[in-house]
Amino acid sequence: MNPKTNKIAAGIPDDRIIAKFQGQKKGRTVCCICGIHGNEQASIHAVRRVFNTLAARKKYFSGRLIAVAGNLPALKENLRFIDEDMNRLWHPHKVDIFRQGFNSNPISNEEKEATALIKLLDAEIDHASGSSIFLDMHTTSSKSKPFIIFGDTLRNRRIAAKFGVPYVLGLEEAIPGTLMEYITDRGHIGIVFEAGKHDDPASIDIHEAALWVLLHGTGCIRRSDFAEEIDRSTKLISAPSASLPSVLEVRYRHALVNDDHFKMNPGYINFQPVRRGEVLAEDKNGHIIANEMGHILMPLYQGLGNDGFFLTRQINKFWLTVSTVMRYLHFSKIVHFLPGVKLHPGRKDTLIVDTHTAKWFVLEIFHLLGYRRITQLNNRAMILARRQYDIIGPHHHYRL
Ligand SMILES: [Zn+2]
Repeated sequence: MNPKTNKIAAGIPDDRIIAKFQGQKKGRTVCCICGIHGNEQASIHAVRRVFNTLAARKKYFSGRLIAVAGNLPALKENLRFIDEDMNRLWHPHKVDIFRQGFNSNPISNEEKEATALIKLLDAEIDHASGSSIFLDMHTTSSKSKPFIIFGDTLRNRRIAAKFGVPYVLGLEEAIPGTLMEYITDRGHIGIVFEAGKHDDPASIDIHEAALWVLLHGTGCIRRSDFAEEIDRSTKLISAPSASLPSVLEVRYRHALVNDDHFKMNPGYINFQPVRRGEVLAEDKNGHIIANEMGHILMPLYQGLGNDGFFLTRQINKFWLTVSTVMRYLHFSKIVHFLPGVKLHPGRKDTLIVDTHTAKWFVLEIFHLLGYRRITQLNNRAMILARRQYDIIGPHHHYRL
């Protein structure tokens, strides 16, 4: 099938700003990012529906809503990307280069698009009302119930809890350089919302519902004014995932290289339970098996991409509560007294952990405290950094 015949691949904007809306009352800025992957177009249709409804109801809206397109050339071609994945290049050192300009070095389509997006966000997003809230809207190549991904700060968790769909934690540790890592590191709130399969019209409904739920959760709209939208949306996004685990963490990423002829075995859908030893895919070296039991995430059934699949494991919600308490008590200030843990000599909030000396569940414990692994030095040592703006944002007079 020609991807351009995709039922929902119509109405791609020429301008990076899809729409903007200013309410009559003061409030937060909510920014939707649509189509960082060019074959994920449901969000564009969804945000337009929300803007259409809001147009006549300015006086009931507090704050500002803006929707921007990510990868415009890829959206026009209905391709995930043109040269490289635009959701893998937001490393701090690369962002510095985007900001400084490239001189005469050739750059990829996605580097150009990222540079333009940074410029636009710098111009459009201010801190007049505290941190902004970003909704990075995606779809998947396999059938999926809605779920969210975020950097595990307590500020992000507060917003994530409004959606009533499963959380997937630790993805930014498995795939560094995502846009949401950049957003969170700048002190904003940011949630990635995965609505369902790319070309399923229901993904538009789900994305629309997610945005209404977010606008309610951030105080931009009140239930008394938008009861119909909020009630319908809350039900629509949370009902499909009622039977799924509510929190999962990524345990394994199957990374692809160009010539390994990866082929996912047919029939896998997101969150499907898998057994240890189950054959999940094939490549030129033979079977690819699950190294532990868990739930499969984002099995790849499209031509383009660097991730074959992820394996996740359910986390008991009790641990999130423990984690919140530990963070409010600032346990992170004393962890370097533990055996095998020392402060990084040159970097703030960063630890070097020797896993042979620290024989406990190092990664699990540090995840609870808000750290993520940034480098595996060798098979016994790793560098972990604490996420910034965990409890309060850079604009202290606002709670979020
Ligand atoms: Zn995507």
